[in-house]
This record gives sequence, C-alpha cells and structure tokens, in this order.
Amino acid sequence: MSDLVALCKQRGFIFQSSEIYGGLNSCWDMGPYGVELKNNLKNRWWKAMTLRQDVVGVDASILMHPTVWKASGHVDGFSDPMVDCKVCKERFRADNIDMTKPCPKCGSKDSYTDVRQFNLMFKTQMGAMEDTSSMVYLRPETAQGIFVNFLNVQTTMRKKLPFGIAQIGKAFRNEITPGNFIFRTREFEQMEMQYFVKPGTQKESMEAWKEIRWKWHLENGLRAEKIKWAPHGPDSLAHYADAATDIEYEFPMGWGEMEGIHSRTDFDLKQHQEYSGKNMNYVDQVNNEKYLPYVIETSVGADRCLLAIMCDAYRLENEGDADKERSVMKFHPALSPIKTAILPLSKKSELEEVSTKLFEDIGGVYKSEYDVAGTIGKRYRRQDEIGTPFCITVDFDTLNDHAVTVRDRDTMVQERIAIANVQNYLKDKFKF
Ligand code: ATP
Repeated sequence: MSDLVALCKQRGFIFQSSEIYGGLNSCWDMGPYGVELKNNLKNRWWKAMTLRQDVVGVDASILMHPTVWKASGHVDGFSDPMVDCKVCKERFRADNIDMTKPCPKCGSKDSYTDVRQFNLMFKTQMGAMEDTSSMVYLRPETAQGIFVNFLNVQTTMRKKLPFGIAQIGKAFRNEITPGNFIFRTREFEQMEMQYFVKPGTQKESMEAWKEIRWKWHLENGLRAEKIKWAPHGPDSLAHYADAATDIEYEFPMGWGEMEGIHSRTDFDLKQHQEYSGKNMNYVDQVNNEKYLPYVIETSVGADRCLLAIMCDAYRLENEGDADKERSVMKFHPALSPIKTAILPLSKKSELEEVSTKLFEDIGGVYKSEYDVAGTIGKRYRRQDEIGTPFCITVDFDTLNDHAVTVRDRDTMVQERIAIANVQNYLKDKFKF
C-alpha cells in the first residue's frame, strides 16, 4: 500500500488534503489523474445503473431537514462504540480490539476507559443563529435523499414498480479510526441505488441485483479471485434489513467491504411516513392495491472502489532487472485517466508539426497527453505508471511513410499504423 500511496502522490493521482499546512487527517484531494479516473468510474456506474428503463437518477442536497436523521435512526443509532487508552490516549473502536488484552499501541494493561457510544454524524449550523434550532447534519449516506424523494420521483416520472432511483454524492462520517489511505475517510463519495419492489418480491430482486453488481466489478477489470461475497449473518444485520451481503475486495491490508447490497424492507419509507405525516404508499392501479414498497439497495463507495481498482491495476514487472523493470497501472482502458500519449521522437520542428496536428485530432476525442521531454523509454515508463493504454510515437520515418508507431501498454507490442487510420484504430480499441 505504501508504494501505491507514493505513486499516487508522485504521479498526480491523490494528494493529502491541505498538505502545505501539514495535512488534514483522513481527507484526500484528487489530483489531475485521480479526478479523471474517478470521473470515469462514476460515469461507468451511472451508465450501468441508469441506461435502463426502470432506473432514474437524482442529485439531492447534502444538508437535509434534521428530522430526516431522526426518522432514519441515525440520530439514535448511527454510532460506534469507542474506548480510549488512559495511558497513551490512543482511541479505538471497541469492536475492533480485544479489551481483555493490553493496549495494542503502548502495551499497557487494564488501561481502557469505559466504552462510550460515539455518533458518527457531523453537525453544523444553518443560518446566522447558533442555537439548536439551526443545527443540521452533513449526510452520512446518500440513501435518505432518495427515500424522501420517493413520491416526487414516482409521480413525476409516472414510474410503476419495480423501479429504482440512483444517486452519486458526498457523504460524511466522523469515523473513530479512519485510515488505510482512501479506504476509510471522513468525507467520501457514495454511489447508491434504491430499487423499490412489491413486498414479497424482494428476494428475487436482491438476487438479480447481486448478479448485476458482481458483473460490474469484473467488467471494470477487477480480478475475480480478488473479490468475494461476505453475507451478513443474523447478528450483523442492520436494524432495517432482512438480508444483506457485501462484496469484499482483497486490499493489501486484507479483505474489506467495497459494496453493500441490502434488502431494507419498508423500514425507511415507513419511518418517513410516520415522522413527516405524509402518506408514502404506492398505488397499484392495475391490481387496485396500496402498499409501502420494499427496497433493495446497492451501495458502493466511489473512493473505496477506486482504491480497489488502483490496487488491482498496480503491477511491478521484471523486478530487479534494471533494463526491463517497470511499474504499470493496468487499468481497464475505459477507466484510464489518459487514453493516448503523443510522443514526437525529437523536438525537431518537422516532427512537432505532424505531432501537434495528431494531438489536436486525437486529443479532441480522447483525453490525451503530448510529451517531448526525455528519452522515449522514460516517456513510455511514465505513461505506464499512469495507465495510458496507447503511446503513439512520431519518428523521422513518419515524414515519409505517413505512419506512426502505436505501443500497447500491456503487451508492449508496437504496431505501425497509417496516420489516416489512427482514429479508426483507436475507435476499435476504445469500444466500451
Ligand atoms: P464499514 O463497515 O466499512 O464502516 P459500512 O458497512 O458502514 O462500512 P455502508 O454504510 O454500507 O458501509 O456504506 C456503503 C459503502 O460506502 C461501503 O461499502 C463503502 O464502500 C463506503 N463507505 C462507507 N464508509 C466509508 C468511509 N468512511 N470511507 C470511505 N468509504 C466508505
């Protein structure tokens, strides 16, 4: 993981937040390549979830009426058990350590404080008055923005069950023990979808969504042996769920949850109906029935998924062989932040002229880079490290044969392609 963190900083993927001030713990900034990669990932999720008849999207606000969080159970229940070591002052999640053993940080015995419940929601003030009536929360999940809009969406879009509402957005949790780079942060992005179904059909719907979501991760290039199902047993089910399973990824620090698929029953709609006084029933005009729909939720952290994708793509090849060693990000081409790099072999003006023209043509279609600095080998290595699928080299032969060399990132095979055919060549490679 430390190699990956170093590469992310050196190559402009991810920087520590407010670094020049010493950084802000557990907050990270996406750099120029990070934001491209993350946008590509989010766009892929958005397309996979909404390019279907039965799912529409929303973008709800982060700040919501505070009663939302009473109704959802977050005010009373969204907390983790916390203990401190009285000697070294380190703070732990009580469910993550064995409290009968010495402090894992300083080794002191019987040094723990009592366990306290710590609510993970951030609070802030809305408006100029700093009294309790102006207190609002930063949302700890995006899902509630979907539930409170259920009726708005259903009626305006004239949706019949089953249908889903998808959303991508920031969420905030004042985690007790953030860490492992962007795995657990206090500000992160979620990609969530709530699928509303007729009660009684939730099992089959959950099975269908499990399959869709599993396939999506494979289609992003994750290796099948690196992901697994982690079903929740009756003891670990959330209060609102009648079934739940996670998709875990094998991160360098071990297996960890990447996505949760939850059968949330009608818990949320029922709670909002009670707290708001608004009737949340779905009216089935064909069968002349009224009921609260059940919900299947798919919830994946954009940043955590991004981390899995980077861990999976990161390879060190021919280690120890100075001539052949390279680190390479084998991203799925659809995710690669940069799709092609145009590399004139020298700075001679006649090469630059052809190269600039090529860059203008290709760069307008695919996010590309133009690089003339350093040896060609170094420039290839640099592009490998950021996961660019194709490098296009313009050399002196180009001036005669009007062709360029296209190098494949993964195989390192080089092909000579006529400039006139480059666009078609790339179109074929970037069919996704
Ligand atoms: P964990 O057990 O890891 O705290 P959770 O079960 O509380 O996660 P959910 O509430 O189901 O997580 O959130 C759905 C998804 O949001 C998770 O699978 C994860 O990808 C992402 N997520 C949750 N908390 C964080 C966080 N602090 N930082 C980054 N991503 C997060």
